[in-house]
This record gives sequence, structure tokens and C-alpha cells, in this order.
Amino acid sequence: MGSMERYNAFLRQRDRAATRRAPVALRRLGQGKIVPASGPADAVLIDFSSNDYLALTEHPALIAASGKLLAEMGTGAGAARLMSGTLEIHQQLEQETALLKGTEAALVFGSGYLANIGVIPALVDRRDVIFCDRLNHASIYDGCLLAGARLIRFRHNDLNHLEQLLRQQRSKFQQALIIVESIYSMDGDRCPLKELAGLKNRFNCLLLVDEAHATGLYGAGGGGLIEEDAVSASVDIAMGTFSKALGSYGAYIAASRPLVDYLVNRARTFIYSTALPPAVVGASLAALRLVRNEPGLRRDLHQRVELFKKCLSDGGLTDDPGPSQIVPILVGESRRAVAIAAALREKGYFVTAVRPPTVPKKTARLRFSITRHHRPEELRQAAAALLRALAEVR
Ligand SMILES: *Cc1c(COP(=O)(O)O)cnc(C)c1O
Repeated sequence: MGSMERYNAFLRQRDRAATRRAPVALRRLGQGKIVPASGPADAVLIDFSSNDYLALTEHPALIAASGKLLAEMGTGAGAARLMSGTLEIHQQLEQETALLKGTEAALVFGSGYLANIGVIPALVDRRDVIFCDRLNHASIYDGCLLAGARLIRFRHNDLNHLEQLLRQQRSKFQQALIIVESIYSMDGDRCPLKELAGLKNRFNCLLLVDEAHATGLYGAGGGGLIEEDAVSASVDIAMGTFSKALGSYGAYIAASRPLVDYLVNRARTFIYSTALPPAVVGASLAALRLVRNEPGLRRDLHQRVELFKKCLSDGGLTDDPGPSQIVPILVGESRRAVAIAAALREKGYFVTAVRPPTVPKKTARLRFSITRHHRPEELRQAAAALLRALAEVR
């Protein structure tokens, strides 16, 4: 008994609700194939839960760039950016990120989580208000908590609701910050950025758009949905990661030069955290160049996504699979989601059952993440296996 009892009770509660989480150790075999470390070596699974959308983690250009810097500069950056941690390649990455995003400047952070919890409190404080899409990522919510501004959540992608809240609340505060994602990580749907840009300007707000799942995948140059929807003039801060489609690690914000200079002096997760290792920066830089120079990579991905969705609709699934590479299959109860994920695993597919509290109650889902690792035949077979499991697991 004693002090541990609370924590044990929490875990038992999670067990009862089928929402307890634990990491599963895997070995990566390459090309999207994985093997659970605890099982037999031939129990190969096709991974449908990775955000390595363009399959760049295994691209020779990233591996070569990363390996070269590893050999030249060693493993760690050794210090924070404002100490001796800033290398030429950090600044090069920032320049090329700004180029990708069409902004004056960019700033690299250790991760997307660190970017969000560093930038948001630097932009707003107790005098201010944040309008936050309900389905925004946990790192955004944590950033809002650290900021101490009034937090007002609007219904997911519902700009009428946002407008109503802006009318009621905007004038009571000094600065107002609207935060959205461009592609939502659990639902795979898009934010209506054009309409949002109008609202944001009308109510004199700052706009922060998290492009974690859009960077490298949308827009003629791979700049994301901000580029595709041509709204960069209305987006004050674009944020994104190097860890998803770009196959590396770390994150960026892209903004005006004065705002970036301000954040260098103000964002605590930039100031007080060690710079990214040179080999990681090298991989990100190589990925940025691929995204700029090889639009065929994202075209190829989008073709695979369309194939998977077509197989599902041809097989009779009537749910809207959404507009992106993230294909959520809503199944309702956590227990059913876990059972379907287990059935798929038996058949050789690794799919995550996303459950509350990550998503709202009764909206547990299987989240299929389509990547360039998946061959057309594998996508056809996976869709068939899913349709069978949906019919058999009640
Ligand atoms: C993944 C993700 C992050 C966090 O990025 P990391 O680099 O993994 O820390 C932030 N926002 C969104 C929307 C994400 O999907």
C-alpha cells in the first residue's frame, strides 16, 4: 500500500476500460516490414502505423548525408543552440525550410512536441486568448496550458462555431491566437484553411498551423496544405516536423524574420534544450531537397492511398475514408477496436487501435497510415483482410 496505490489503481482502471497502453518492441526489416521482438523471427508484419509516408527513412540520400556528417562531426551536438550548439548545417536547414514554406525565416526545434510547447507560451500569456480546434494534438494543448492564456476550444473544423466564439470573446482580450492542424493526425481530415484565413484576418488574430502530417506531402513544392491552399500570407506561424514524411527527426517553425528572432530569445524549449545531432540534421536536409526536387515521391504515395480507399469502397465499406494518407476506420468501442487490431495482426498486419483518451469516447478506431513502403498487392490484401475482420468481429 502507501504511495504506489494510486498509480496501481490507475493502471487497473485502464485495464478494465481496455485503454492501458504499453510499447511493443519491434525489429525493423526494412520496406515497411516489422517483427515483434518477443515472437518468432518469421512472424513478419506489414506496418500500417508508421508516419514514414514517403519511405524516406530508408532512402539512400538520407542515409548517405547522415552517415557523412556522423563520420565528420560525431554523434552529438554537445550544447544548446545559443551556446556552441549551432552548426552551419542547422542554419542551412533553417534557410531551406524557409524556402520550402515560402517564409522569410524558419527555426529548428528538437521535436514537434518541443516546438509547440515552446512557441505557444512565447506568443501569448494571461492577457490573451487561444482558440483551439478540439482535436488538436496533445503537444498543442500542453503549450496552451504553459501559456496561461484563456483557452477556448471550438468544435472540430467547425468555423461557424469558431466565428460565434470570436464574436463573443475576441474583444475581451489583447492578443488572440488561433491554432489548427492542416491534416489532423487521428482523423486524417483537412482544415478549411482558406475560410479560416478570412476569419483570422477579420478578427485580428494570430494563426498557427501545425503541418506535422502535411509537410512534404501536399502543395506543388511539398510545402504542405498552406502552400496547396495558397494561404501563407495569412499564416503567422507554420509548424511542422522532420520526423514524419521527411523520415528524420526534429521540427521547424516558419515565420517572418522578426517573429523568428523573437522566438530565438523567448521560446524556452529552443533556448534550454540541446541542439539536434549533426547526423539528424543532415538527414532532414537531404529529405527537404528530395521533397523539393522529386514531386514523383508524393504522387506515388497519393496513388497508393487512392488504391487502398478504392479497395475498401469496392468491398462495400461506405464510411468516408477522408482526404489524406491517414485512413481512420471508426469502430466505436475500445474493446472492438482492440479485437479487430488483434485479428489483423494474426493475418500479418500491424495496425494501431487508437482509443480514448487519444480520441473522444466511443470513437475508437483503427488508424491505417499508408506509406510508399506498401506495395499495391499488399494494399489490396490488407483492405480485404480489414473488410473480413470488420464483418467477423462484433
Ligand atoms: C507528431 C506530431 C507532433 C509532435 O511531433 P514530434 O516531432 O513527434 O514530437 C506535433 N503535432 C502533431 C499534429 C503531430 O502529429
